Amino acid sequence: MAEIAEEVEKTRDYLGKGALDPRVMAALAKVPREAFVPEKDAGYAYDNAPLPIGCGQTISQPYIVAVMTDMLEPRAGDVVLEVGTGCGYQAAVLAELVAKVYSIEVVRELAESAARRLERLGYANVEVHLGDGALGWPEAAPYDGIIVTAAAPKIPEALIAQLKSGRRLVIPVGEPGGYQELLVVEKTLAGGIVERTTLPVAFVPLKSPLG
Ligand code: SAH
Repeated sequence: MAEIAEEVEKTRDYLGKGALDPRVMAALAKVPREAFVPEKDAGYAYDNAPLPIGCGQTISQPYIVAVMTDMLEPRAGDVVLEVGTGCGYQAAVLAELVAKVYSIEVVRELAESAARRLERLGYANVEVHLGDGALGWPEAAPYDGIIVTAAAPKIPEALIAQLKSGRRLVIPVGEPGGYQELLVVEKTLAGGIVERTTLPVAFVPLKSPLG
């Protein structure tokens, strides 16, 4: 936790603040990250670093999870969408803060193991679905917030369509393996969008299963 706070302080010019919402920090402190990493890496679970989780994917760095969650400005009654479940860590952090989390994962093996893990840990307010998150999850739309944890070449239109006016989409945008920026996209009451660029980031690419 101290490392996260330190890195937030160091990156305050990008973030526009020197400390995150204490509720977000409390949620990170509460989720047992060791339950989300492979057993052999349990010793590294509390390092402020990303780790491999199989299927060529990674669990995000705690600092990034904290920052993205803070940018979403979650409220207790919210229904939020996450694209890119991976191991389910970000979904669990969100589940500590909001009423309901829908999380979409495109790799079946990851979706199934994350769903089992979240259930085992008692996160009854998370639903994991297999699918292409670039299309969102229209069944439960509109959302009070959307977080994308894989980098898209541009903002998927379906996600804007599924976001409530006045609320936020947090998404890394850029080239796979190249320069990516974390964007905070606010949907205006008139239905338009206002984009704010924050940190340079490195996420795995958002795959398009349909080519
Ligand atoms: N949120 C995770 C990090 C996930 S890494 C955490 O908390 O640690 C990104 C994930 O996005 C990977 O699991 C990858 O399989 C998934 N992904 C990539 N393209 C996707 C798509 N089009 N739809 C849904 N998930 C996708």
